[in-house]
Amino acid sequence: MTQEFDYIVIGAGSAGNVLATRLTEDADVSVLLLEAGGPDYRQDFRTQMPAALAYPLQGRRYNWAYETDPEPYMNNRRMECGRGKGLGGSSLINGMCYIRGNALDFDHWAKAKGLEDWTYLDCLPYFRKAETRDTGADDYHGGDGPVSVTTPKAGNNPLFHAMVEAGVQAGFPRTADLNGYQQEGFGPMDRTVTPEGRRSSTARGYLDQARGRANLTIVTHALTERILFSGKRAIGVAYLHGDASQPTTVHARREVLLCAGAIASPQILQRSGVGPAALLRDLDVKLVYDLPGVGANLQDHLEMYLQYACKQPVSLYPALQLWNQPAIGAQWLLKGSGIGASNQFEAGGFIRTRPEFAWPNIQFHFLPVAINYNGSNAVKEHGFQAHVGSMRSPSRGRIHLKSKDPRQHPSILFNYMSHEQDWQEFRDAIRITREIMNQPALDPYRGRELSPGPNLTSDAELDAFVREHAETAFHPSCSCKMGEDDLAVVDGQGRVHGLEGLRVVDASIMPEIITGNLNATTIMIGEKIADRIRGRQPLPRSQARYHVAGDAPVRGRPVRG
Ligand SMILES: Cc1cc2nc3c(=O)[nH]c(=O)nc-3n(C[C@H](O)[C@H](O)[C@H](O)COP(=O)(O)OP(=O)(O)OC[C@H]3O[C@@H](n4cnc5c(N)ncnc54)[C@H](O)[C@@H]3O)c2cc1C
Repeated sequence: MTQEFDYIVIGAGSAGNVLATRLTEDADVSVLLLEAGGPDYRQDFRTQMPAALAYPLQGRRYNWAYETDPEPYMNNRRMECGRGKGLGGSSLINGMCYIRGNALDFDHWAKAKGLEDWTYLDCLPYFRKAETRDTGADDYHGGDGPVSVTTPKAGNNPLFHAMVEAGVQAGFPRTADLNGYQQEGFGPMDRTVTPEGRRSSTARGYLDQARGRANLTIVTHALTERILFSGKRAIGVAYLHGDASQPTTVHARREVLLCAGAIASPQILQRSGVGPAALLRDLDVKLVYDLPGVGANLQDHLEMYLQYACKQPVSLYPALQLWNQPAIGAQWLLKGSGIGASNQFEAGGFIRTRPEFAWPNIQFHFLPVAINYNGSNAVKEHGFQAHVGSMRSPSRGRIHLKSKDPRQHPSILFNYMSHEQDWQEFRDAIRITREIMNQPALDPYRGRELSPGPNLTSDAELDAFVREHAETAFHPSCSCKMGEDDLAVVDGQGRVHGLEGLRVVDASIMPEIITGNLNATTIMIGEKIADRIRGRQPLPRSQARYHVAGDAPVRGRPVRG
């Protein structure tokens, strides 16, 4: 007999776990949560220890490890596109930087038809609802939400302090809270880490509250093959369980909620017959509804590392040595403290490179060691680096189904750096970062520039460096965007246009990428739409004040020569 549930949630990631948890707060509602990956094994330090964040990317257990098609503006490189797999989804393997985006991102979304209730002040109550911040609640922060957010302790590593001071000495603002009144400026960066030093994924934060509920069924190793329709109504899901060759079929009495993320959600829709008609015809997929925006409008953040040698032995270089790791691991395991308990992105910032940007267009993450994000290419000496990247690239990519086989990855093309604005922003970003790194606050630490290297100075040389070395910041999004225009896939409540009983709720529905890391905003989207699905009144709009740069200059004070 086919099993029936009120709701079927596909994907137990950042957004899916919010929906599964909130919907099952109503005891008379039954929910099935399907996840292609496995459990979030708590004994596995690779996903639980914040400092181990590079490890999950190195294997396939927790990482889909997608790859792009050759990127035409990036020397035809096939670029890494890691996505989380398992309970927690990408929140199980991400960098744990807790950043919400700029208030003006959401005000900008809300200007689009159908998104009027997505202003920052409409979203802020949901950011607060999701969060417990260790320093307590205020107008911007929550005190009793599922996601644990900790603020770095001053003095953890002198390089964090020095890098923030250098940003201020370069003339940029200082901000005490990148998620508070003012995002613009340099300051400490909060983390989704518990006070006990554990990763606060949505599996830990949300699902732990709900796992024991009789009305929630969680099935792992359940790879969704397609969504089932009766006419234009989604009525269920077919999935492959484990190694099974034949799909299991489940029915949804109310809705199917697709939360498989910005790569897999459009892929699953296309496989189910919802997407651009010509593409589906070529692949012999039976058309359910022609929706050209499915997989279009794909966006991401690209970033590069500017690396310096460090003159003093204060970097994390010793922690990379195998013989030092048992002690770090033991302190983390037994006391929840020390180097292991931090994601090591404890400071960063947002700046405007030119006055025509109404809100910041460049993000910095500071790291007190010189190494690639995925753990490769560690510099063999004390060093530090800034990850620098542009926030709202005009480049647009797409996801295309390649095969009806659910085990095949889709074709992914971001079209990184396909716009002249991208090049200008990256040149500006490199030059400004060098200025920051040359401020007096870093004099005691700064050694030689390791990367890009002091000899690369002209536009052409910097462009060549970006083309060869820029990497994803792992923020694919916007591939099933909200709105009412020709490319919109869902309305302001995540309901798929032209169909019934089907929503998409994840990072794919952002209409435009935000200024910052995506996890907090994806969770906020889940919280906000969960209230709509449950038929609850939206939380009252916040009254909090927020910073608008207006025509304030990009730098507040003169810069040292
Ligand atoms: C390496 C990395 C570092 C990052 N760093 C940060 C950071 O520091 N801060 C931050 O804010 N954001 C960061 N992000 C981004 C952020 O984590 C994601 O944008 C966010 O988690 C996306 O949430 P989602 O719900 O859209 O998708 P996901 O969390 O990716 O969830 C999708 C889920 O669907 C499942 N799924 C996919 N296909 C199927 C299928 N066919 N059947 C069943 N299940 C399926 C997946 O396994 C996954 O569990 C990072 C991401 C990565 C990968």
